[in-house]
Amino acid sequence: MKVTDHIKEGKDTVISFEILPPLKGKTINSIYDHLDPLMEFKPAFINVTYHRSEQVFKKKADGTFDKVEVRKRPGTVGICAAIMNHYKVDAVPHLICGGFSKQETESALIDLAFLGIDNVLIIRGDAAKNETLFEPEPNGHRYAIDLLKQVADLNNGIYLEEDIRDGSKTQFCIGVAGYPEKHFEAPNLQTDLKYLKAKVDAGADYVTTQMFFDNKKYFDFVKACKETGIDIPIIPGLKPITSKKQLSVLPRTFHVDIPTDLSNEILKCKTDADVEVVGAEWLLMQSKELKKFGVPVLHYYTLGEPHVIVNTVKQIV
Ligand code: FAD
Repeated sequence: MKVTDHIKEGKDTVISFEILPPLKGKTINSIYDHLDPLMEFKPAFINVTYHRSEQVFKKKADGTFDKVEVRKRPGTVGICAAIMNHYKVDAVPHLICGGFSKQETESALIDLAFLGIDNVLIIRGDAAKNETLFEPEPNGHRYAIDLLKQVADLNNGIYLEEDIRDGSKTQFCIGVAGYPEKHFEAPNLQTDLKYLKAKVDAGADYVTTQMFFDNKKYFDFVKACKETGIDIPIIPGLKPITSKKQLSVLPRTFHVDIPTDLSNEILKCKTDADVEVVGAEWLLMQSKELKKFGVPVLHYYTLGEPHVIVNTVKQIV
């Protein structure tokens, strides 16, 4: 079932989760161990992130280095199929531009369609670790909108090979990323919103936001989206803070602010166990306020912290 149908059919705010694929070498059971405690909340869907490979230098016996491609986490197609099969819940694979040619993207989309996966979250991906700015693959996509147009084409039965006539039409429900605190490369929020609106005009069905810790940023973003003519569901992404280190890691990695009230409380904590309590209370406060506002979905980035999410969601469903 499509994310937008879950939203339409949900009587109230629905719950969804996001997970990372396990590190290479682990089995699918590590995903089930992570998800099992979360399934009592009957999530409408589960997103699975995509992580491109990295180039690393490995020292050889003669002292010179070899450049090798390292893939730390497997792709999303198999994991999504396993989740859908195991839990009978919809899985949403993230598809990125980085590292993919259009042909490889098309093959992945065909595999997803064959598996009955009819949701995708379309994003660009960040620059590779050895690049300053994002560079597409030869014959790949530069911006998320270009990848989105490929999915929209496939939804209309248009394949890369022009001689495929009467090709079957895929049914993908397409999500895209939105940034209440703007994307870090955008010169300003208005410009970022102009490009978000272009994604909506090209066929995006809903937006999932970057994490934020100040609900006002989300409320202002929703208002600004409406004023720009963006009239699709905007799903808030939420994450608990669970360690002092995250006070600097999260702003550096995700380009988000931590409100002073929250950072002050965290700085007072003696241990990370204390930080977890503060982070969980903050997440609960955010969740309750967003639910009251009438958000369509509360989407939780579970990363390594399902127990905190379990305790929070218990108090709001
Ligand atoms: P785009 O929409 O392409 O935008 C990138 C930048 O270019 C923005 O500054 C935008 O304003 C600008 N822009 C857009 N279109 C144009 C245009 N036509 N001309 C000029 N400028 C333009 N990353 C992963 O690697 N894997 C994941 O699984 C993943 N999941 C994510 C999930 C969510 C909900 C979010 C919010 C982010 C996720 N990311 C993930 C991170 C994402 O890949 C990065 O933030 C990336 O830098 C931007 O992706 P985008 O889809 O927003 O890019």
